[in-house]
Amino acid sequence: MSNAPQIPVPAHTLAETMLSRRFGRETVNYFSSSPLNRLSFLRTEHPFLSAAIRHPSARFVLLKDLAPLTKSPAEPYYAKHNEVQKLVPDDIYDKPEEDIIKEFDSRKTTPHLVFLGLDETRKQDGLTWNIYTGAPFFALDVTPKGCEEQQTTCKSVIGEMEAKGLSFLQARVVMSFSADEAAVYAQSRALIDWNTRNTFCGTCGNPTLSVNAGTKRACPPTDAALVDQGKCVERPACNTRTTLSNLSFPRTDPTIIVAVISADAKRILLGRSKRFPPNWYSTLAGFIEPAESIEDAVRREVWEEAGVTLSRVVIHSSQPWPYPANLMIGAIAQVSDVEHEKINLEHDPELEDAKWFDVQEVEEALRIGISALGDNAGPEYKGGLRLPPHTAIANQLIRAAVNFDPKSGDSKM
Ligand SMILES: [Zn+2]
Repeated sequence: MSNAPQIPVPAHTLAETMLSRRFGRETVNYFSSSPLNRLSFLRTEHPFLSAAIRHPSARFVLLKDLAPLTKSPAEPYYAKHNEVQKLVPDDIYDKPEEDIIKEFDSRKTTPHLVFLGLDETRKQDGLTWNIYTGAPFFALDVTPKGCEEQQTTCKSVIGEMEAKGLSFLQARVVMSFSADEAAVYAQSRALIDWNTRNTFCGTCGNPTLSVNAGTKRACPPTDAALVDQGKCVERPACNTRTTLSNLSFPRTDPTIIVAVISADAKRILLGRSKRFPPNWYSTLAGFIEPAESIEDAVRREVWEEAGVTLSRVVIHSSQPWPYPANLMIGAIAQVSDVEHEKINLEHDPELEDAKWFDVQEVEEALRIGISALGDNAGPEYKGGLRLPPHTAIANQLIRAAVNFDPKSGDSKM
């Protein structure tokens, strides 16, 4: 496939170091390795944000119900400021954050807006701030919601975009973008989704306010809307204002995903859920629980879902997975003896099946039986095992597991 999405290849993965010689090259997964420099330390500097939003090189990733605005399924569309000015006024970042918090009025809602970072590959026409130069990127939620004015303006912006032949890409998981664009979308989706789910304070239940360029939410001490209701402007006391944890932060939920190698390293353990198409198998996965190490979680999940007891667990690579806020931590693990390879699906009946596959069969499936979940396998596929695409960390883990050399203990990528 000529237009298949590329896995990111950042320069650091090509550099030779003692560590890379000992442990192999770093594996980089789809949705990671963004071209944007997030400059997280500038999110509180409103003069920087003001300059960024006004700069001609500024671009906006538009999301409607988390679906990205695109020219085609393979190409996102980045709007210019003048195309979204109705929703994002020039002066939006002109006031210091303290003033915005003081003036909070829960009746005046605005669309979620997140500063993503500077695209440093675009230096020639980019914004220069101190020693940093690049095109500022923002994510903007145009889903019609909030106050009436916001809804009307969102609908009008959506209409203008659609009139240009653009559309919001409907896909369960967007995997058709290039590596760079996928990483920008992942950051946008995760942060807009988190803002959407946290418009009320988790402690006192009152409306929250976006701060730090869309990456935190505060529970303001006053609300001008209360005065109109004949109440005092002060809101009830809230613990988030009296302790150090005075803000709500975006979530990242760690998840383990593992390719399991048999004791003799000749077979790989894979499982399937009921929603998978016929013959489709993948690596086992599950959430890390509170007070659990990554290795503990890998052992627990594999035992619970497949009854298999693991010995050594090695962390391989990781993948941000913005559906909605996961970090997939990929591992390779091995069983110490045949006794522990026995499959039992009855502890936690989450999987429809789990099976040991010969390495040869898995290698063939990696060659001819991979595709995205809803798509058909390639033209060479003639039945047999099917596996996830390159863009899924499961594919990278299975690849590393079949290339595992039991004599040296190395895995050649
Ligand atoms: Zn609160």
